[in-house]
Amino acid sequence: MKGAKFEKLGLHSRFDFVLHLPLRYEDETVLTPVYAAAPGRPALVQARVLRAGVVFRGKRQLIVTAQGLVLRFFHFHASQVAQFKQAIEKGLYVRAFGEVRLGEMVHPRYRFVSGSEPLPDTLTPVYPSSAGVGQAPLRAKVLEALDAGPLEDTVPPGLRARYALPPFDESVRLLHRPPPKIDAASLIERVHPAWRRVKFDELLAQQLSLRLAYLRRRRRVAPILRADGALLRAFARSLPFKLTRAQTRSMNEVLRDLVQPHPMQRLLQGDVGSGKTIVAAIACLAAADSERQAAVMAPTEILSEQHARKFGEWLAPLGVRIAWLHGSLSGAEKKRALGSIASGEAQIAIGTHALVQKGVEFARLGLAVIDEQHRFGVRQRLTLRRKGDDAAPHQLMMSATPIPRTLSMTYFADLDVSVIDELPPGRRPVTTRLFSAARRGELLARIREACAESEQVYWVCPVIEESKEGDVQTAVDTHALLAKELHGLRVGLLHGRLPAAEKAAVMADFVAGRTDLLVCTTVIEVGVDVPNASLMVIESAERFGLAQLHQLRGRIGRGSRESVCILLYGEPLSDGARARLKVIFESANGFEIAQRDLELRGPGEYLGERQSGEPLLRFADLERDGDLVRQAIEAAGEMLEQHPAAARAQVERWLGRRKDLTQA
Ligand code: ADP
Ligand code: MG
Repeated sequence: MKGAKFEKLGLHSRFDFVLHLPLRYEDETVLTPVYAAAPGRPALVQARVLRAGVVFRGKRQLIVTAQGLVLRFFHFHASQVAQFKQAIEKGLYVRAFGEVRLGEMVHPRYRFVSGSEPLPDTLTPVYPSSAGVGQAPLRAKVLEALDAGPLEDTVPPGLRARYALPPFDESVRLLHRPPPKIDAASLIERVHPAWRRVKFDELLAQQLSLRLAYLRRRRRVAPILRADGALLRAFARSLPFKLTRAQTRSMNEVLRDLVQPHPMQRLLQGDVGSGKTIVAAIACLAAADSERQAAVMAPTEILSEQHARKFGEWLAPLGVRIAWLHGSLSGAEKKRALGSIASGEAQIAIGTHALVQKGVEFARLGLAVIDEQHRFGVRQRLTLRRKGDDAAPHQLMMSATPIPRTLSMTYFADLDVSVIDELPPGRRPVTTRLFSAARRGELLARIREACAESEQVYWVCPVIEESKEGDVQTAVDTHALLAKELHGLRVGLLHGRLPAAEKAAVMADFVAGRTDLLVCTTVIEVGVDVPNASLMVIESAERFGLAQLHQLRGRIGRGSRESVCILLYGEPLSDGARARLKVIFESANGFEIAQRDLELRGPGEYLGERQSGEPLLRFADLERDGDLVRQAIEAAGEMLEQHPAAARAQVERWLGRRKDLTQA
């Protein structure tokens, strides 16, 4: 029964218990005389028990009188009353821990002593727990785990010396049973060397497991692609624009990977609108030039449609054959598309998750491009990889928004990273305005003006159907309302529940300028590119995350006009919402926004299924422990080269049950 409860706390193995580290400590190493116990500060006191009895004073309660001390209990068992009576008969003392107020303690932790029992010589740990698991059994189990023998040190002595790390065994023992004279604040703040050792080991294990995964994948054989084929050279001559320096650098990094006989595992990241797509297209040409196929997988139909359009525009003139798998293909069309992918006739296949479904067979897959990688699970990426023949395809993953540097150094250590840190020239910065919802009238006038100048407008709503909160306007209602309020304008509606064909038609209308105002949900968040749209209204902007707002705002400012993003917010604003809107108002730099987003909301948003369930880091904090992160990265490199067995032992110890999280 206890076992099951420990399992619920995630405690299975000896090492789980060893690593179940205290939240705080109680000092039971000294006795404080009752009169000297200061209110507000728990103390250990001891007094001879004199009387005990149950009384009613408004409420039933057990009152125990000891020498100079009263203990009061509102919840108690009959057995407790009996125990106190026995203690009186035997002349025992009660040793109680808690706060003493005016000579009285309410519900203290206590036990009976004969008067001369020694005090513990270490601080008493208080462990993270949950309902039904008491501190006493937890302490016992942890002690048992510690007593089962010394813990081997998996970090080689040379590295320990370099980073001034205390031995692992000593560190965890100290954290579980700190000596009374210790600087308790350094334990609570988790900056004590013993804590730093544990955090270092955690970060090291994470680095090692990701690098091992990287090396494992690297040992696979991949087709060598050409970086100088006819198609690539023809495209280089006919580029629709001059690549930025950062695009050129990223392209070269990608091409250098593709000519290797092992699979590329590269993450291409860049701010919204930095031009990742063309780098992907160039990679696809390297595949086509090498008689290999490329698959381009996007998280939404709309985005896959847009890729199909862009790729068609760029590559069809070169004679590249593209198959687009989408939801509104007729049975016969779909069959034809699948046939061309299976026969190898299609050089590039574009689609959503549909690409990894059964029935999609590639003749010679050489490259998998995964746009907005965080929206896909490990399994989907794995499936796409397996669509290759004997050789593993190269993989190019793209991120929606920049990933803060500390995150990409840690959680993405199993990938090579290219960063496009520069926007194409001529981008006019988007002006961001904050409007309270009360200024709607003014806003409508502004939309009319913009449309009269043949500009196009996005109106983004937070959810599509009545939410539990009830006060969120639905896109459907908003569309109906705006169509009335903006009578005479052509108002379109786009949301995730529309059938694929309708979505594509709505989007095509907007792209072609047949719609003035597009009311939509966040389906346009990802990658939609309509340069003529220069005004965006985000309704209830306070409900969006930072990265999401930035991503949305990146949909405008793509043409030559001055673009404006209006964040419409409902009042009153919470402090958190105000802080978020302030960041988005003040900064247009995706890397900076991502960093703030990470600070405000934690890494969840960026990791997607990289972090399913339990967090990979329990103790280390990427921001506060930046120096340890850098040390762990350095140490991991050395350990893999010089101490591979220790490296594996370290991963096994820390990740044992869940080391498969990163494979794909
Ligand atoms: P993202 O990185 O957000 O996916 P896209 O690849 O969609 O960005 O590019 C955004 C827009 O910028 C597209 O219209 C694209 O054609 C254009 N673009 C990309 N690179 C350049 C460049 N070097 N010069 C001018 N326009 C570019
Ligand atoms: Mg994109």
